[in-house]
Amino acid sequence: MQNKPIALVTGANQGIGFQIAKDLSAKGFTVLVGARNFERGQAAVKALGPNAFALQLDVTDLASISAAAERVRAEFGRLDVLVQNAAITKTGDDAQTPEEYVKTHRPSVVSLDELRAVWDTNVFGVLAVYQAMLPILRVTPNARIVNVSSGAGSLTLASDPSSPMRSNFDATYAASKTALNALTLAMAIELEADGINVNAVSPGYTKTKMSPGGTDSVEEGAAEAVRVALLGSEGPTATFTHATFGAIPW
Ligand code: NAP
Repeated sequence: MQNKPIALVTGANQGIGFQIAKDLSAKGFTVLVGARNFERGQAAVKALGPNAFALQLDVTDLASISAAAERVRAEFGRLDVLVQNAAITKTGDDAQTPEEYVKTHRPSVVSLDELRAVWDTNVFGVLAVYQAMLPILRVTPNARIVNVSSGAGSLTLASDPSSPMRSNFDATYAASKTALNALTLAMAIELEADGINVNAVSPGYTKTKMSPGGTDSVEEGAAEAVRVALLGSEGPTATFTHATFGAIPW
């Protein structure tokens, strides 16, 4: 078993996940860079330095997930922090403005295949990774899980007529983050007695491949996930927070 704490970040080859990996590495973690494409993971690891290792991990592929879990168990023997960051908003590479996206992903028009693909990654993928990694988390003292959600998934904000979030509440991405929030609570409740904290965070509108118009830097977007990941057993469980706004209503 390694002496240094280990953090696994899914979807860490670019964007907010890459920055989370970078920040956790700077805080003394050995960081496992989850990447569905191993070469992209290796390229990220090259940029991150000697405390980072690429881990092939496609959150929609059960064989990939179980191979990754076995590798973590066999090569590292512990898992202190699991950051579930990987997500997509849509299939396909066509550029869409946020307005076009919402229009094409309303409940009446989105194709079920498109919705299933997004939920496969953002919801079922998170649950599958949770189930595979839990045995390793359970044997690591003070292990914790951070689920990277979005304020877009807040039902409280979406049902508030005065909230700017309301009009963007689509059936696909936003609703997948609502489902992720529900899973976060279910996981936190399940693991309360074991002392494994499970929290959701919102990065805010961050400039990445997913959100080219984002107004925050990746450093700002990663900050809350990193803060929560660094809290040990003294930290809270079952919270949903943002770096500067604090608690976000579920
Ligand atoms: P991004 O730049 O598009 O990065 C997403 C990452 O997830 C990429 O590494 C991508 O891999 C990976 N990924 C996608 N599908 C995967 C799969 N099946 N298995 C494994 N990895 C997969 O997005 P981001 O903006 O950094 O988003 C990171 C997180 O923040 C997401 O959970 C997102 O919902 C959340 N968030 C973002 C914003 C924002 O404004 N950016 C706001 C709120 C919440 P590839 O490189 O192979 O595509």
